[in-house]
Amino acid sequence: MITFDTKLASLPRIQKKYLPKLKKLGLVTVRDLLYHLPSRYDDFSAVVPISDLSVGMNVTIIGTVTHSSTQRTWKRKMTVTNVTIQDNSGSTRAIWFNQPFVGDQLTTGKVVRMSGKISSDKKGLYLSNPAYERGARTPTNTGCLVPVYPETAGLSSRWLRWQIQLILAKIDDLPESLPDDIREKYDLPDIATALHDIHFPEEQKDAQHAFRRFTFEEVLVMQCKLALLKAHAKKDHAIAIPFDEKRIKKFVDTLPFVLTDAQRKSSFQIIRDLEKNTPMNRLLNGDVGSGKTAVAAIASLHTAIAGHQVAILAPTEILARQHFETFTKMFGNENITCALLTGAYKLYGEHPALVKKTTRPKILSLIKDGTVDVIIGTHALIQDDVHFHDLALVIVDEQHRFGVKQRAALQQNTAQIDDGQPTRVPHFLTMTATPIPRTLTMAICGNLDVSILDEMPVGRKPIITKVVAKRKRSTAYAFIRSQIKKGFQVYVIIPFVEESKAMTNVKAAIAEHKILQEEIFPDLTIGLLHGKMKAKEKEKIMKDFQEKNCDVLVATAVVEVGIDVPNATVMIIENAERFGLSQLHQFRGRIGRSKHQSYCFLFSDSFGNKRLHALEKSSDGFAIAEEDLALRGPGQFFGTQQSGMTDVMTENITNIKLITAARDTAQEILSDDPSLAKYSGLAQALAHFDKNVHLE
Ligand code: ADP
Ligand code: MG
Repeated sequence: MITFDTKLASLPRIQKKYLPKLKKLGLVTVRDLLYHLPSRYDDFSAVVPISDLSVGMNVTIIGTVTHSSTQRTWKRKMTVTNVTIQDNSGSTRAIWFNQPFVGDQLTTGKVVRMSGKISSDKKGLYLSNPAYERGARTPTNTGCLVPVYPETAGLSSRWLRWQIQLILAKIDDLPESLPDDIREKYDLPDIATALHDIHFPEEQKDAQHAFRRFTFEEVLVMQCKLALLKAHAKKDHAIAIPFDEKRIKKFVDTLPFVLTDAQRKSSFQIIRDLEKNTPMNRLLNGDVGSGKTAVAAIASLHTAIAGHQVAILAPTEILARQHFETFTKMFGNENITCALLTGAYKLYGEHPALVKKTTRPKILSLIKDGTVDVIIGTHALIQDDVHFHDLALVIVDEQHRFGVKQRAALQQNTAQIDDGQPTRVPHFLTMTATPIPRTLTMAICGNLDVSILDEMPVGRKPIITKVVAKRKRSTAYAFIRSQIKKGFQVYVIIPFVEESKAMTNVKAAIAEHKILQEEIFPDLTIGLLHGKMKAKEKEKIMKDFQEKNCDVLVATAVVEVGIDVPNATVMIIENAERFGLSQLHQFRGRIGRSKHQSYCFLFSDSFGNKRLHALEKSSDGFAIAEEDLALRGPGQFFGTQQSGMTDVMTENITNIKLITAARDTAQEILSDDPSLAKYSGLAQALAHFDKNVHLE
């Protein structure tokens, strides 16, 4: 009996040698193979008389084999099969390399149908490696539309299609994941029709119709999964933290600025969540400079004054250190103790003037006995020896740099308050580094509640951004020099292509630093900051920059961007075309932090790069993110692997109508029957999804 769950390895028609290749494509079960959808179709619909052939055509011909020979060329260790085919109008040749069995099948006298591309050599026209079918049976691999699958070496589309055909003929049960009324509502074919039409379409429109169904199904399964995650999380217990409105208001009044409406609203949404005894799982989605830190501070204070602990995770030591400074300053009059725990720093204190240096064991004991209220750190916080006294809130800054696993580890480490009460998980707030497009949050963050900071603090002048071609460099440098004369400072950002190439990047930064210091600005002080420096060195150079002891800071992009030096009003980004728009927008958020006009120069050798010009026009991070999503897909926001998205999903991620429809459907189904007992096909699809995709 063959079902969706049957292992391909157990099918007699699949030889052992194919199994590793199938596995490489992620194909292990029958379901995997049937859901391995074509990436395109070659159209061989017209049968062409042989006399009408010409080079480059994609054609189907029908004829009789009049000659067939297979030779082995010893020199190149290859077999070559030559076949001549004749129809009423003339004859032509077909050639296959390394497919000796073709010669056995296409013997003289056989009627054959072939599809392929026409090439030519000294002897004239021929079909090169065509797909073929003997006899006048219903054509599958030739004629009409021939699917082309994502392939790997040694697994041809032809072979895949043949296997799919065999399986579809024999399979006993095709579980339907989409309820009838849903299929009717959205005009989607049933599973049997869809599988047939996607693999063996008569016409393009059949394939498209089938494809719509598979897309909907995949998005629906994802939405069900997210809704279930959310419902499941609601079953967990968390500490309900009462709102001390007076005290929070008083704190907000001491801030050196007035909160934006968006900050106010987001803070309130968070506080409302924290008051509940189910864990918050919220995303604070905001542009660079929109003031996420102040919102995090309000949430932290709310939690700490109720006597509970807060952990704040930052992606780098510099950022952790900066948060620690900001928090001790902001909480200077609040009787709140903050601690900083990273590889390099072990600090704690109630007030910037009272900060003490200490050791890791000492910090750990202060965390364990509840002396410290707010613990800021890097990965160093996610270790087995870190035990909290009473952790009620976890805040993760720049969330997607932290792997899913690390977050899970932290959750685990923190659910152990031994007081006889049910196990409680901390409330969870993640903050984005760059705005995430709304469509994307809907598509793959549906388990999170979202607060949006889509409003910038008042009084900021938009940054003037210019794409600068190579030959205009000197003009830009002259302008920059004039800005430095006025007392402003400059960032120079050197790209990294991949983190794995960090060393190349460090070298590039060192080289650029040398050029700027020795050739361009020999009379100025140029600092250098890169990922391979020790924390102490980094700290020193950051301090120098902050205290204006250096005019220009050359930095690799790995060395974070979260730093806050308002006097820096100019930024150069080298090889800007190597970055995504969102990333560039994030870098440029380091400037424009004072009342003075700021300038961002995108140096690029490919001046024609239209993409970059989008940044000259827009300073709206959400709009830029949408554009980036359309241009480059979702991978850059989450890493495709992490989000578990297939190609189908990736293609449809911006299809808001589809996602909304799927989300509504998921909600309908789950509110009708949360256990999915009535929807066994869908439950099966979900189980499959669970096995293959790991959301947080
Ligand atoms: P991000 O959202 O990028 O983390 P930050 O929290 O670092 O932004 O805030 C950027 C800068 O804006 C900081 O210097 C902060 O003090 C300032 N800031 C935050 N909120 C406001 C506000 N409502 N009005 C004026 N300045 C603000
Ligand atoms: Mg920030």
